[in-house]
Amino acid sequence: MAAPLLHTVVPPQGSVPSSPEPYYLPSGAEVSIFAHCHALELAVMLKGPTGCGKTRFVEHMAWKLKRPLITISCHDDLSASDLIGRFLIRHDGTAWQDGPLTRAVREGAICYLDEVVEARQDTMVVLHSLTDHRRSLPIDKTGESLVAAPGFLLVISYNPGYQRMLKDLKPSTRQRFVALDFDFPPASREAAIIERESGTDHGTAMALVSLGQRLRALRDRGLAEVPSTRLLIAAAALVVSGIPIRQACLSAVVSPLSDDEALVSAMRDLVDATF
Ligand code: ADP
Repeated sequence: MAAPLLHTVVPPQGSVPSSPEPYYLPSGAEVSIFAHCHALELAVMLKGPTGCGKTRFVEHMAWKLKRPLITISCHDDLSASDLIGRFLIRHDGTAWQDGPLTRAVREGAICYLDEVVEARQDTMVVLHSLTDHRRSLPIDKTGESLVAAPGFLLVISYNPGYQRMLKDLKPSTRQRFVALDFDFPPASREAAIIERESGTDHGTAMALVSLGQRLRALRDRGLAEVPSTRLLIAAAALVVSGIPIRQACLSAVVSPLSDDEALVSAMRDLVDATF
């Protein structure tokens, strides 16, 4: 069975003195609402399209709240054992190994389950007792019931653009979270993010934002995934490193988005019209 993709992104401040603040440009009250949820021990759901800043936001908040961050990228093979842990067979017997969720519960970390609806339903169920007054994680295999350490916060994200996923996230699960809505930022903010992340100049950033907005309008013509801020940053980074802008847009924005000839051709036309 596939193990969860896992990494600890932000170490607790204090134990590692100089982790730099992850750059995040807010677009509303999300920073303050998240901080309140953390203080009130309310689980949080981040809703929004891919590449619009949800992960960066959680990294930023973990830094701000001085909590370790454990990120789990969900996939359809993710089992409850992948999250909770399992007995490993060793030469001298068996040893219990905590999964990432258990570690987060013990450490009082922020546990971020990215694209949570990819995970199987039976996996989601293990989260329930962590999202109410119990704040506990039952570990059937060891007979333990762990109460979450202070500072623990469960955060999930999902992309409501996929209809299938909307159906998959059960109302009984949804109602356990405070939801924060994310979307692509307004033009001037998105340009500021592109400039900051890629090192490009303001004019190029604005032109890429304008292209992004035109391409996003193709959603109505069947473009399933529209260009994210992440893709625009990639195009800008290519430009900064010396690739001509039209080529950068074709390689970093147009081609990753679709294999459909008609759509690719429509997107190329928009690139030509922009640059
Ligand atoms: P998501 O988790 O929503 O798929 P990410 O957080 O990975 O998206 O965002 C993709 C990239 O876009 C980030 O790595 C960052 O460079 C940039 N980004 C998007 N929104 C913001 C923001 N508001 N502030 C700073 N960077 C942002």
